[in-house]
Parts: sequence; structure tokens; C-alpha cells
Amino acid sequence: MKLAVLTSGGDSAGMNAVVRAVVKIGILRGCETWIVREGYEGLVRGNTQAHSLHTELPADLSALKCAHRGVPTNLMENLRFGDGDLLRDGTGDHHHGRTLKGRYIVRVGWDDVRGWFAEGGTLIGTARSAAFRTPEGRLSAARNLIKEGIDALAVCGGDGSLTGADLFRSEWPSLVSQLLTQGVITEEQAEKHGHLKIVGLVGSIDNDMSMTDLTIGAPTALHRICEAIDNINSTAASHSRAFVLEVMGRHCGWLALLAGVSSGADFIFIPERPPQTIPGGTWEDDMCEAIRGHREAGKRKTIVIVAEGALDENLQPIRAEYVKEVLAERLGLDTRVTTLGHTQRGGRPCAFDRILPTLQGEEAVKALLEATPDTPSYMIGVRENKIIRVPLMEAVAMTRAVADAIGAKDFAKAMSMRDPEFYQSLEGFFATSTLFKEKQLPHHRRMRVAIMHMGAPAGGMNAATRAAVRYCTKQGHHPLAVHNGFRGLLDDNIHELSWLGVDAWTSRGGSELGTNRTLPDVDLGAVAARFQEHNFHALLMIGGFEAFNALLILETGRKHYPAFHIPMAHLPATISNNVPMTEFSLGSDTSLNALVDACDSIKQSASASRNRVFVVETQGGKCGYLATMGALATGASIVYTPEQGMNLDTLRQDVKFLKIRYGLDAKGKSEGRMVIRNECSSTVYTTDVVTKMFKEEGGNLFDSRSASLGHTLQGGVPSPMDRARAARLSLRCMAFLEEHHDALQKQVGKVKQAPPESAAVITIQGSALEWVPVQEMVQHADMKNRRGKTAWWAEIKDLVEALAGRSEIL
Ligand code: ATP
Repeated sequence: MKLAVLTSGGDSAGMNAVVRAVVKIGILRGCETWIVREGYEGLVRGNTQAHSLHTELPADLSALKCAHRGVPTNLMENLRFGDGDLLRDGTGDHHHGRTLKGRYIVRVGWDDVRGWFAEGGTLIGTARSAAFRTPEGRLSAARNLIKEGIDALAVCGGDGSLTGADLFRSEWPSLVSQLLTQGVITEEQAEKHGHLKIVGLVGSIDNDMSMTDLTIGAPTALHRICEAIDNINSTAASHSRAFVLEVMGRHCGWLALLAGVSSGADFIFIPERPPQTIPGGTWEDDMCEAIRGHREAGKRKTIVIVAEGALDENLQPIRAEYVKEVLAERLGLDTRVTTLGHTQRGGRPCAFDRILPTLQGEEAVKALLEATPDTPSYMIGVRENKIIRVPLMEAVAMTRAVADAIGAKDFAKAMSMRDPEFYQSLEGFFATSTLFKEKQLPHHRRMRVAIMHMGAPAGGMNAATRAAVRYCTKQGHHPLAVHNGFRGLLDDNIHELSWLGVDAWTSRGGSELGTNRTLPDVDLGAVAARFQEHNFHALLMIGGFEAFNALLILETGRKHYPAFHIPMAHLPATISNNVPMTEFSLGSDTSLNALVDACDSIKQSASASRNRVFVVETQGGKCGYLATMGALATGASIVYTPEQGMNLDTLRQDVKFLKIRYGLDAKGKSEGRMVIRNECSSTVYTTDVVTKMFKEEGGNLFDSRSASLGHTLQGGVPSPMDRARAARLSLRCMAFLEEHHDALQKQVGKVKQAPPESAAVITIQGSALEWVPVQEMVQHADMKNRRGKTAWWAEIKDLVEALAGRSEIL
């Protein structure tokens, strides 16, 4: 199959990763791979210059052909077409005999897309093509594709681009017959290219496409927004100012909402849900009252986020400038407007925008290979942490339906068409941003909630605590911080937290409460006595495997200590992501981003010295999640995990692979490569040993160095994903504690008996949040190795190695 990929519409981070994945997986699946420059415009323009394919063959390719099965593999064949420089320079200059001048549809090889992960935007160019909207333009596009013999197209763009793609496909048979009638193509060509295979990938920073949870580029845009707000926060607080930030999102408030949750904003405006007003009031009154309340409580800064498509109930646009006037005039606040504009699009893709496009690119190639004239065009999406295919036009139609519902003032319908996480995030935003003074629970339902951090610090621990404290204040509960875990509890290091006291915690890394690994069985009786003394009605533990272990000890201890007959929740937070049954823990995204940042710098250094293999050691205990996903997000060549272990055979194969791969690099174009090794992969083949081994074996081909990322992986500032997830999960924990507390209150008799399911861990399983009683969790835990018995990400290791070309080379 001859397969082409193009990027269209507005650029977004992650588009390069899509192109990389489609090209690499395409080659691995035996396809000939092409890119189309400048989106549909490139298709319409086609090639006016003849193709010059020649690049210098690696000196020993012919020898390798003989050495490896006698025939060149598709990968080796494809190495001829790429030296890694051609597409980086869009000027059309010559590169080693190849030129882009007059060529929009270009054959590419394996190494043309190397190192593309770290680049923002799209290296193959994008455009808004008026010509492609016309029948003549699409006829020209069809002619150009047939001329090159291409009949499969992967399009990465927004809903407009995907609509164009579907239209192109549906028109294809008539375009082919027109071309035949005009004598532009032969009968043979018409027959051979009777069917165009199309697949869509959603590249859009707004996250505005229905039927997928996330679009490519949206997480990075959220990173940019949160970085900006974090920076603004300090100046806002210094001058006691208000800032109104306008963020992107014409029909979708996802960026504004998630930014609001992640940055602890005071107020947000989004298109799907205009500000609700009490009868006779206006949203201006409501906003001012809320912000006045925050100021009276002692806040020195105010942040309001306005999506560019924000509307009021009468569909009148809400503009940042107007919000500023209201705040300045009515509240006398020194208010500034910051429009983030195109900075939101730019910059290096975050970890998620490398992983998601890679997995989706893989699925896109599969969908193209399986496409028949009878199957619909698919859009690749993600749902329930699974990559999915959905009928492209259904997704586009549903996306349009949200805009139509907003246009018809049917906001409830618009909200119902967003995914459940969107709705929960909105509820969460209101619960944690506003200082509620009324509607607290009746006294008998109020709780004294102990909140504790356990294990190593992880991004999002503080954000989760903030959300819990804010919720407690809203409901009338008492949030009691237990500092320094169970050690602190025994030392009576317990204080009540306040709404204002936790205000800045969303963006703080580390653990504001202090944390350690001491388990309650250090003195279970004394722990129970403290519970009783402080009259805890509920316990929220935020931490990793230790917290799970602690919960297990407390639940088991209920047999002997009535003080533990209270609801107890564990919110998993650990960079290792080793808590059983949950697909993600708080902190794992922050950590992955820290790893990606570090590896980008290391790779730059490795590439500068051209032929260097960097062995990068990661934390993660006996769980290879961080190493594996980090390897996928950075394009590492090899990954070592504790689950798979290491032995001499695999090391020998790895050395062989590296030698062949370096031998295949175009002359003078050797690449720095990375190997990621989890710290516990082997006690014998340590990072040092492996590095020395590679150095020794590399000879003249490659050199080797090591880098240990150590505690840097705990990350400084938590990622927006971790902050948003922290707030959402924490509020669910509070609801769980309330529910079980209420049930206990209803028990008759003096001695309350908390059921086993009231001591549970909140887990992310797909897009659902599931409570798993701690006693059930044990069944799924590998207690010795401190990880789950199964790992959903285990197969990713194969993909990492396939993308390095290993399976083809060895
Ligand atoms: P963004 O989300 O950034 O706006 P988009 O893909 O929706 O991305 P559009 O400008 O709507 O951006 O579309 C990009 C290109 O796709 C257009 O310039 C045009 O070439 C093509 N296109 C869009 N809609 C159609 C259509 N109905 N028919 C044919 N081509 C279309």
C-alpha cells in the first residue's frame, strides 16, 4: 500500500508525532510512505518536479542485505529515503541530492522523521486551502495522488479537515471517472485506484471533537495556559491584582475549564454553560459577589478565565475586556487582561501529546490496511484509555450538534454531549473555587476528616488536598491535616486547614503536609488512640503503595480497634504508578513530563556528539511504567523494566541491534540514541555495567554515557493533568466518605461497624472511576514486588522497540 499523511487546519502540538508514527508503522507494515506538505493545498498543487530519490546508501547496506536473510527488509529499503534533514528545512533547498522545490507529495523514509517528537507545530506544514473546497481543486488532488500511485491517506486536523477528507473519499469514484474521461489517467490507473482509503486523526488544541476524550494538541495547550497562569499568579498576588485571561476555545470550553480547575481560578466563562444567574440578577452581579467574597476572605489575587467563545444566556459574547471593566468599576480591582493567543499552540509537546499520537498513528495505519470500499472512513479517538475507531462523519456530525445546541440555547443538551469527565470537572470547579457560606450540611452529618500524605511526594498531592479542604469548607466538615504521616499522627502533629490556607496549593509540587513511609503497625494501638482522641470521622490518605498498605492494616485492625470503624479512602499518588488496579496515579503524568524534559536535553547532547548512546536510569521501584511510557514518549531505542528483567541473551541482542543500527545511519548522520533503564531492572546489570558494556562493544560505531534522573522525576510543578485529576478524584473521595459516614450514622447501637467496602481505593479503570475495597485490592497486588499483578501498559515495550526498528533489524 502506498500511504500518505498530511496535516491540515490549525497546527497543534503532537502533529509531528502523528506523522512520525504513521510513517514508521507504515514502513513496518510493509507500506511505501509519503507525506503531503502544506495540507490539502499540497495535494491540490502536487508535484511539478520529478522525484529525485537518491540518497547515499549506507556503506554497508549491501553487506547487511546479505547478512540479514539475504533480502532487504522494508525498513532497510526505506532507510535509503531518509537522512533526517530533508523535511526539517521547508525552504526547498537541496539535501544530498533531494529537493522539495516544486514537490508537495514526497516519498519519505524511516530516518526522515527521526527526532520529531520534541518539535511543536507541524514540520510538514499545514494550510487552509480554499482550492480544496472546490470540485476542481479536489479533482486536481485526485490526479496528483493517482500520479504517484497513492490510494491511502491519513489526515490529521480539526473537524473541517476531517469533513474535507470524508467528502474527498465519497467523491473519489466520480473524480476517477472524470479523470479517465479527460484522458488524464489510464484505464489501468482508474481500475487500480478505484477506492481511496481515508483515516482521520484529530489534531486540535481546543479538544472540541465529539466521540473522543482528547484531541491531539489539547494537553500541550493546557500546559502552556497553566504555565502562563502560574507566572501571572505571582505578579497578581504581589500587586493584589485581578487578571482576566482569554484562552482558545470557540465552541468548546475544555481548555478554559481545565485551566480553571488546574490553576485554582476564581471564575470561568465557557460556551457550553453560560453563567447561571438567579432570577432578576445578572452574571455580572454573581461574578462580583463571588470575587468580593474571595477578597473578603483574604485573597490577594483574582484570576478569571474566559474562553474565546464564551457566551451569556442570550448568546451574547462575553469578552475579556468587558469582564475587566466590570471588575475594575464594580470592585475597584486593579485588573489586567492577558490574551494568550498563539502561545497556546506553540512549544514542545507534553508527554501525553507524544504518547497519544503515537498510539493513534499505529491504529490509523491498521485502519487503512483493513479498509475496504464498504467500510466507513474512521476517525481515531481515545476513550477509556483505549484507542478507538469511530465513524468519522458521525463524530463530525456530533461535534457540529454541540455547536448547534449552543446556538439554539439548549445548553443542557450541549453539556450532555460532552464526556462525563467534562461535567465532573465543571462541578468540581464550582465546589473548589467558590467560597460557599450557606447550605452547609446539618450538624449530625458533618465530619472531622483526617487528611494524610504517605510515601514519596508526587505531583497533585497538594492539589488533591486543596480540593478536599475546599469541599469540607463548603459542606461544614472539619479538614484536619495530619502532618508527616503516621509518625506525625503519633506526635500529635495535627492542624485544621482553611479555605484560604490551601489557596495556592494547586500548583505546588512536593507534599505540603509532609510525608513518610511509616506504616500504622509501628504502633497500631497508639494510632487508634489518636483517632479516638481527635474524634476522626473519616480518613483520606493520599499516597502510593504505602498508603494502600496502611489502609489494609487499618481495615484489618478494625477487628480490635473500634476507632478504625470509620470510612477510609485511599487516593493513589505515586510517580511509579504501581498501585494495583488503577491505570493512573496522581504524579505519574508530572513525572513522565519531567522525564521527557530531561531526556529531550540528554538526547540533544547525545545527538550533538552524534554517535552516543545514553543509558538513562529512572525511578519507579519494581514497576516499569515510568520507564516504558517514558521510552515511548522520548523515542528511546531500548527499555529495561523489572517486569521483564535483563539477562545476557537480551544484552547480546541489544548490542547487536545497536551495532547494526549505527551501521545503517547515513554517512556523517549518526544519531544519538537513548536506552531507558528502570533502577530495579537487574541487580547485576546495573546502569553502570550496561553503559560500560555498550561503550566497549560500540568500538568505532558508538560511544556510551549514563545519566540518572533520580529525584528530579518527582517533578517541580505538577502537570495540569495531575492537578485536574487530583481535584476530580479528591472530590469523589469526599463523596465516598460522606456516603459511608451517613450510613454509619444510621446504624443503631453504640458500637458502629464499618463494612469492609468502606475502606477502599479509588481507581481509574478506563474512563470510569471505580472503588475497590482494600481487601479485594490485595488479590490483585504483588505485595512482594509492590506493584499490581497485571500491567495494562506491558505491550507498549514491544511498540517502543518496533519504533526503533529492532524487530526488522534483528
Ligand atoms: P481547526 O480546528 O484548527 O479550525 P480545521 O480542520 O477545522 O482545524 P478548517 O479551516 O475548517 O480547519 O479546515 C481545514 C481545511 O480543510 C480547509 O482549508 C479546507 O481545505 C478543508 N476543508 C474544510 N472543510 C471542508 C469541506 N466542507 N469540504 C472540503 N474541504 C474542506
